[in-house]
Amino acid sequence: MARYKESVCRFCRREGAKLYLKGDRCFSEKCAFARKGYPPGEHGQARQRISEYGMQLREKQKARRIYGVLERQFRRYFQEASRFKGVTGERLLQLLESRLDNVVYRMGFARSRPEARQLIRHGHFAVNGRKVDIPSYQVRQGDVVAVKENSRHKPIFKELTEWGGAQGTVEWLEVDRETMTGRITRLPSREELDIPIAEQLIVEFYSR
Ligand code: SF4
Repeated sequence: MARYKESVCRFCRREGAKLYLKGDRCFSEKCAFARKGYPPGEHGQARQRISEYGMQLREKQKARRIYGVLERQFRRYFQEASRFKGVTGERLLQLLESRLDNVVYRMGFARSRPEARQLIRHGHFAVNGRKVDIPSYQVRQGDVVAVKENSRHKPIFKELTEWGGAQGTVEWLEVDRETMTGRITRLPSREELDIPIAEQLIVEFYSR
């Protein structure tokens, strides 16, 4: 499967926002965006005018990078969202939020979405009692996501349980840290999502 090979901190600098791709480092003084909050490259500090198309493109790229989704897959999410009767932008975000890697991260079983993807690929999670090692797996309302029983004793999950407990949980998920399980009680509304994305620009980008 294709993977990003660039340093992910460049993505934050390019998009002009912290995308929280490196777990604890994002909250420390080592954060590259906190140290150099301008775009990477030779002309990064030059003042640049951005066209309407440029703004739409950047917003789409930002969303892709936050959720770690490749272009083709992202377009498929948009196509699915546009078939939905409600608000396309909100539905797009709900589809992205329903990815298993995002849910594992939101439940506090990983410190970042990239870490969640890695843990899922290594087979540490189950959905409704069955092992799932596909980060893009779409969870549904009522699904139960759990750290697999034979993974629970691993030091990384002890660490993550403490970390997740300190972070708190979003309202649309229920988490039991003792049993390392969580349930999707419902899909989030736009107001409940703390992501710095103007989804309307993404809709405009694909509607050109
Ligand atoms: Fe972005 Fe985190 Fe890197 Fe900071 S440390 S630039 S928030 S990925």
